[in-house]
Amino acid sequence: MQANLSLFKKFVDLLIPFRCAKCGTILENRHGLCADCWTLIPFITEPICDCCGLPFDFEIEDGALCGRCSHVHPPYTTARSVFVYTPQSKDLILKFKHTDSVHSAPLFAEWMARLVKGAENPLCIPVPLHWTRLFMRTYNQAGLLARNIAKYNDWTYAPSLLIRKRRTPSQGHFSKAERVKNIKGAFIVREGKKTNFWGGPWFWWMTFLQQAQP
Ligand SMILES: [Zn+2]
Ligand SMILES: [Zn+2]
Repeated sequence: MQANLSLFKKFVDLLIPFRCAKCGTILENRHGLCADCWTLIPFITEPICDCCGLPFDFEIEDGALCGRCSHVHPPYTTARSVFVYTPQSKDLILKFKHTDSVHSAPLFAEWMARLVKGAENPLCIPVPLHWTRLFMRTYNQAGLLARNIAKYNDWTYAPSLLIRKRRTPSQGHFSKAERVKNIKGAFIVREGKKTNFWGGPWFWWMTFLQQAQP
């Protein structure tokens, strides 16, 4: 049976080869990036701010915070980003969001899942789309990522804990303050599920990308 499955997988790989998620070059073994594209993506590595994940250019003590988080601690415990948002990296995100490149979800989720492996009793909750947007787009990219992250780390995937109460304009061109205002009151926790949220340790707030610092 195992041999049959592996033969079938080889057959599928031949028909639908792995391609670089950025430029589309055919890859030999598995999903990912080709060597050229890999060097273009500014992956974030330590040292980073213990709270928001901002990368530092110099060595720091374990648990150190960046200036912004030291000044006003954000309302979340931990945020982590896979890479910095630059002209070279942003097309990976935009393709995934707007051109049905859903096959990239397992790759992106694997990158994200590795960053948050140590979380205790996590619930993996995607931010819900308004039903009208879901209807137009046909999939929720946050849901695809959350489901794959949960699978990768063997976590609980909880797609229906949050409800979007109203449709909000796209956040794309808003400032930070405008974004906060835009989504204020847009989400609620489903009735009867609140203990799932507040009973355990604080959840991790995870972002995929981070604006480059000016
Ligand atoms: Zn490439
Ligand atoms: Zn910070």
